[in-house]
Amino acid sequence: MRARAGVVYLVGAGPGDPGLMTMRSLELIASADAIFHDRLIPPGALAGAREDAELVYVGKVPGKPSVPQEEIGKRLIEAAQAGKSVVRLKGGDPFVFGRGGEEGEALRAAGVEFEVVPGVTAGVAASAYAGIPVTHRDDASAVAFVTGHEDPEKEETALDWDALAHFPGTLVFYMGVKRLNDNAAALIAAGRDADEPAAAIERGTMDGQRTAVATLGTLAEAVEREGIGSPALIVVGPVSRDARRLPGWSGGRCTESASSSPAPVRRQAAWPRPFVRLGPR
Ligand code: SAH
Repeated sequence: MRARAGVVYLVGAGPGDPGLMTMRSLELIASADAIFHDRLIPPGALAGAREDAELVYVGKVPGKPSVPQEEIGKRLIEAAQAGKSVVRLKGGDPFVFGRGGEEGEALRAAGVEFEVVPGVTAGVAASAYAGIPVTHRDDASAVAFVTGHEDPEKEETALDWDALAHFPGTLVFYMGVKRLNDNAAALIAAGRDADEPAAAIERGTMDGQRTAVATLGTLAEAVEREGIGSPALIVVGPVSRDARRLPGWSGGRCTESASSSPAPVRRQAAWPRPFVRLGPR
């Protein structure tokens, strides 16, 4: 269905692999009058946009000046009130650490109609492409998505470390690389086992995805050594071991037979699959 005039669509673009964009997102991108997009959107995500569509970059680079959140809200409202069909395109899912909730509130307050189009969130997809199932019948009956609070606008951590240390399942930290050392120490101090497997996944589902596997106590050191940087996810829990257990895992597919020797995979080779082209721009 085409994007409607005067409506804002809060659309998730998925974690980076263009093949993980939803059909609904592509339909809306192809028909919108205006597209306000983030930095972390898949390559070619805007290739199907109309030639005359207004493409506006409103992304944030950690630690650099960017368009303030209130300004983004204001511009979405103005565009919709001017009668445009508007797509607000965000990495992953708009409601998972994507500030989609805040933008929705601003739109509702201004009386602007909006719709949410969920996307594949990095916590699930980057983990999967690294060979880590975030839940597992034997190893993890629950999964928690947690912010590592790298947001420059937030200094204080409001996390309940005691609850997280005792959480009976996998912990997936978004924005967690910069504070990894402190966060791991806080978890261990609150009772989480320092020897629990943990992984850091850089550029999950994107070209050049890399995974470092260690323990909660040693992951910060491994990340530092490997030079793992943003965007990256931190996964804490026995399931992180599976990044090692599945040999030759890449691009979400196991490329070696199950009988081959399960050599530890410390770093994942560059993602070999070419990006899907979404059509001429
Ligand atoms: N709304 C997004 C998350 C935005 S917060 C989603 O649902 O996925 C930004 C954080 O998401 C990054 O700091 C990183 O922790 C994580 N992230 C996003 N894309 C990623 C990717 N391709 N690989 C690893 N982590 C990613």
